[in-house]
Amino acid sequence: MENKEIKEIVILRLGHRPERDKRITTHVGLTARALGAAGMILASDDPKIEENILEISPRWGGSFFIKNNANAMEEINQWKKKGGKVCHLSMYGINLPEAVPILKSEKKLMFIVGAEKVPGEIYEISDWNVAVGNQPHSEVAALAIAMDRISDSDPLLKTFENAELTVIPMEKGKKVVHDNELIEKNKRQDKC
Ligand code: SAM
Repeated sequence: MENKEIKEIVILRLGHRPERDKRITTHVGLTARALGAAGMILASDDPKIEENILEISPRWGGSFFIKNNANAMEEINQWKKKGGKVCHLSMYGINLPEAVPILKSEKKLMFIVGAEKVPGEIYEISDWNVAVGNQPHSEVAALAIAMDRISDSDPLLKTFENAELTVIPMEKGKKVVHDNELIEKNKRQDKC
């Protein structure tokens, strides 16, 4: 089968515990954004996550949404109704290399990542339970590797539109270009 480029990836983050998982859930969102996902749905109530990630997004460009306090099963069902497919990342699933061809061929893909124990109904409703190697590690690592492996173009070379800040890669030191016109424009919009 010919691989079509994936157009829309969303992440559904399960089991986030606001007192414990702030950092790792923020990293799930930032990683998803950096590698080209459209947004992250949080199946817990923690507006701080939304605040942290949406503060970064306009500065570094592109568009990324966060949906806080969502109902996981409703989100999955709605996604499926719209023709989307669901890939639950779990160390117990089929190993990623086996799933890459089919995942690459999907246009709308939801990746589900857990925190603590993931309910059995998620394994059932998912189109695929996919392991990034069958050893325990991290939702951030699993998501990053999966998104990289299923991408048709190199996600590390992705550029972000309307970025206030752009890093100029260099061997040593740090160079960041500021788009002052855009920064001023965004400031004016914030005040409105
Ligand atoms: N013990 C939990 C369970 O039984 O579901 C998993 C905890 S793990 C720290 C948190 C999340 O990381 C998992 O829900 C899964 O999404 C992801 N994860 C960890 N290792 C993985 C692997 N080898 N492959 C795919 N996903 C993995």
